[in-house]
Amino acid sequence: MSVRPQPTRVVFLGGLGRSGTTLLERLLGELPGCVALGEVVHLWARGVLADEACGCGEPFGACPFWLKVGDRAFGGWSAERAERVLELRRRVDRTRRIPGLARLLAEERAGAGVWRSPTVTEELGEYAVAYRRLYEAAAEVADSPVVVDSSKHASLAFCLAAAGVDVHVVHVVRDPRAVAYSWRRRVARPEDGVPMTVWSPARTSLHWLTQNLGLELLAREGVPVTRIRYEDLLGSPARTLRRLAAGLGVRPSLGFLGDGEAELSVAHTASGNPMRFAVGRIGLTRDDGWRTGAPPRQRSLVTALTWPLMLKYDYPWRLS
Ligand SMILES: [Zn+2]
Repeated sequence: MSVRPQPTRVVFLGGLGRSGTTLLERLLGELPGCVALGEVVHLWARGVLADEACGCGEPFGACPFWLKVGDRAFGGWSAERAERVLELRRRVDRTRRIPGLARLLAEERAGAGVWRSPTVTEELGEYAVAYRRLYEAAAEVADSPVVVDSSKHASLAFCLAAAGVDVHVVHVVRDPRAVAYSWRRRVARPEDGVPMTVWSPARTSLHWLTQNLGLELLAREGVPVTRIRYEDLLGSPARTLRRLAAGLGVRPSLGFLGDGEAELSVAHTASGNPMRFAVGRIGLTRDDGWRTGAPPRQRSLVTALTWPLMLKYDYPWRLS
């Protein structure tokens, strides 16, 4: 077994789905010393219990990477453990719990001894320990000090930070009109052919606001948060990744990037959008189909619901 001189560092990709988090995770996973794990929040149900495919194409239970991680972290995967983690998730890892988690985080930073308070903190601790063990085992198996979790949910980032996990959040934002357009599209999951969730523009707008405000609050509580825009990532991938790598303390070795494309190797991502299965050369093209495809009324509704944050993130009110 190799001895790693550094502790495991967790890069947590946060934001609302359809904002480019899976693409960013795949690109980060190509950097030296980084390993992409997929959406770990869904690993317990979709990987351990449902045995869905890993990003390498093998069923989760047959993937050599995850077999080793499970052995090292828990002495093997078990349905009981996965169900316990899911039960804890239902109790502590909820968007509506973010204000309480923020208070815990503030108290912990102030040294107010939150670990003496019962139930919630005990459950939070147990929940976070499962993630911590998984991250450490994955770092050891991959021999990478940095693990990338693209779980996205602000509430999980709060849980990890409040429980003392060394987490650096990369907050990915995208124009809410583009995100709303994407959530209206009907796409089948490659894992089982079942259509992915479809949301109305109003619902997407509310989720967009909630997740982004949650991650803003996390930054206010002192957790390291680096914000990047989907549009900048696709517009200037090398510059954006170099800046991000510098902030994460990772060597910006970008040999996998070409002119408007990237060369991706196999990644053992446990869950995520269909992009996680891509291997080889992929185009890095901004998807601007919403500009012509989304009905003006839908765009106006999204703008009316999200404009304060939309302007903060430099998305123009009027389309050029
Ligand atoms: Zn795999």
